[in-house]
Amino acid sequence: MSKSDILSLTRDELRERFLESGLQPYRADQVFQWLYRKGVSSFEDMTNLPRDLRSSLADVYSLEAPLSLVTTRQSSDGSVKLAFHTHDGLPVESVLIPASTRTRRKLTLCVSTQSGCAMGCVFCATARIGLRRSLTPAEIVAQITESLRFIATEEGTRFRPEDNLTERWITNLVFMGMGEPLHNFRGTTTALRILMDTHGLGFSSRRITVSTVGLVPKIREFGRLFPRVGLAVSLNAPTDALRDRLMPVNRTYNLRQLKKALREYPLPPRRRITIEYVLFRGINDSMKHARQLLDWIKGLRVKINVIPYNPDFDPITVDGVTLEPPAPEEREKFANYLREHDVTVLERRSFGSDIGAACGQLSARELRNGEITVVTDPEP
Ligand code: SAH
Repeated sequence: MSKSDILSLTRDELRERFLESGLQPYRADQVFQWLYRKGVSSFEDMTNLPRDLRSSLADVYSLEAPLSLVTTRQSSDGSVKLAFHTHDGLPVESVLIPASTRTRRKLTLCVSTQSGCAMGCVFCATARIGLRRSLTPAEIVAQITESLRFIATEEGTRFRPEDNLTERWITNLVFMGMGEPLHNFRGTTTALRILMDTHGLGFSSRRITVSTVGLVPKIREFGRLFPRVGLAVSLNAPTDALRDRLMPVNRTYNLRQLKKALREYPLPPRRRITIEYVLFRGINDSMKHARQLLDWIKGLRVKINVIPYNPDFDPITVDGVTLEPPAPEEREKFANYLREHDVTVLERRSFGSDIGAACGQLSARELRNGEITVVTDPEP
């Protein structure tokens, strides 16, 4: 019998399994604390468990590091791209983004939920490698724990996430790396449960944002399960005609269906959905588009995040137009038009574009350069 991966189980799942095998459920809480607070890498190290329990756990569960860190690249703006490999050699990338305000230090980790992506957005580099497979919950959570280890090494301190994680270490998580989180629904939601568990890393739902291309039925399901986790939707175009061409998902779930799901989303009071809008020069950045966008968001509680397009190293054309970011003054005009109409607009500074770590640039260059080839079943 193959061992099951303990790092892919929520504490509730572990408690249930323990109960079925005649163990006290509180033992699962202890194991969880060892795994996520103390960061131990063997059952042997769980010293408050009886010796025979430690060895029987080791017989049933595997506790192998789900990811190995292959390279880290630091950008001139302070962000760091961490490139990992899974056991089967698939690339997974995360990006650490420091962004401190005057009063608070903020460190955001952008995590991946799939190796590659199946959504096929024409402007996104990750889409170009296709979907290799969805990540397991353990592989998603490991991006956070391995990044914490990396920070600890950099700072020359021991890995101790129990030292007030939210103050000193990673403060925010955004599920905006490679892949479509809601296309790996089980992996993403299980990872969220593990990350938010107070016996483990204890991330507050307010500090987590999950971004989607707009898989309408999954948005509804997600809202029922995690209404307090931040939701971001990559809109990128205000009309079906344009969105159909940029984001194939729109041919399945169009703007009308998407808007209905967002209107019905069970948002807590004072919270808003983030609408991501990547600006492409001459394609979706005119005043006409700004008006259409304003019209589309009517009746929704949203804020808009405008993101200048980050070019790929291969030029991409849509209807004969090469994708480029707009000039800064065009971007301002677009953002200001919305602001004048009382919309909250954030202009996302793009981090890590010099190291291929910016939005839409995560694509495991070694895969595209043919340095490694992977043949696997796309489903985990
Ligand atoms: N699949 C999810 C999670 C990834 S988030 C989603 O699309 O929402 C990645 C974000 O980067 C999305 O908002 C996407 O629209 C944006 N993006 C993709 N390619 C980009 C590029 N080349 N330049 C700037 N933003 C890009």
